[in-house]
Amino acid sequence: MSDQRSEQDSKLSLAYIFKHHELLVDQHLQLPRVEKLDSDLNFIAGDQIIARDLHIEEAIPEGLQWIPIRQLISQWSQVEFEQASRAMQLLEWRRNHKFCSHCGSETEVHSSEYAMVCPACRYHQYPRVQPCVITVITRGDDEILLAKNAKNKSNMYGLIAGFVEVGETLEAAVQRETLEEVGIKLKNIQYLSSQPWPFPSNLMIAFKAEYDSGDLVLQEEEISDAQFFKFDQLPEIPFAGSIAYAMIQHVIHQTPMHKK
Ligand SMILES: [Zn+2]
Repeated sequence: MSDQRSEQDSKLSLAYIFKHHELLVDQHLQLPRVEKLDSDLNFIAGDQIIARDLHIEEAIPEGLQWIPIRQLISQWSQVEFEQASRAMQLLEWRRNHKFCSHCGSETEVHSSEYAMVCPACRYHQYPRVQPCVITVITRGDDEILLAKNAKNKSNMYGLIAGFVEVGETLEAAVQRETLEEVGIKLKNIQYLSSQPWPFPSNLMIAFKAEYDSGDLVLQEEEISDAQFFKFDQLPEIPFAGSIAYAMIQHVIHQTPMHKK
């Protein structure tokens, strides 16, 4: 009996099962083991980790629960979160590339690499990340620029961020976004760190910079308020686990950018 069971267990794979942005985990927030299906995305070769969207008729094993993946940022290690975020993005990419963007034929999953292949014209569609710069701006020794997003109804103040445009360097994107959103120029732009952000498929690239010149002039559609705050008089800031939080702590308390 016990032999039979262990044989069965060995056929099971650790699985990322998603329903939109929620992930199925047990009561200890660990991944479940489930039977592998042909349509599953083999996530890490040889390591028996698979990923799939929940099938319509799939029963959820007892003791498992749905957790929004955003919540796992603060519960899991950085490596664990990044792996889950990679699984989610690859599934989303596969779901969104069922047809060839060149000729419109139905695509097939490549047998060994992450590519959707068109059987008619051989066009390969690969997963793409969208580079997005985020900047923590200081003035003097004790002031930080924080801005309130116009679309965000909460009282949270965050950092200036935006997508890199085609043909632009990262540093130019930092200068352009800052000038567009709050009207000031920067100096001493320095790379800090990066974080994959799976909503939907961004790579957040973090910089620090110093105020150079100009008055704060807000782009009203994007920013409802922006101010230089004293380090000891901060408003509500982004949650721990976000790259923005790590950046703010880094410039104020010199904490390292990466958690272990
Ligand atoms: Zn095609």
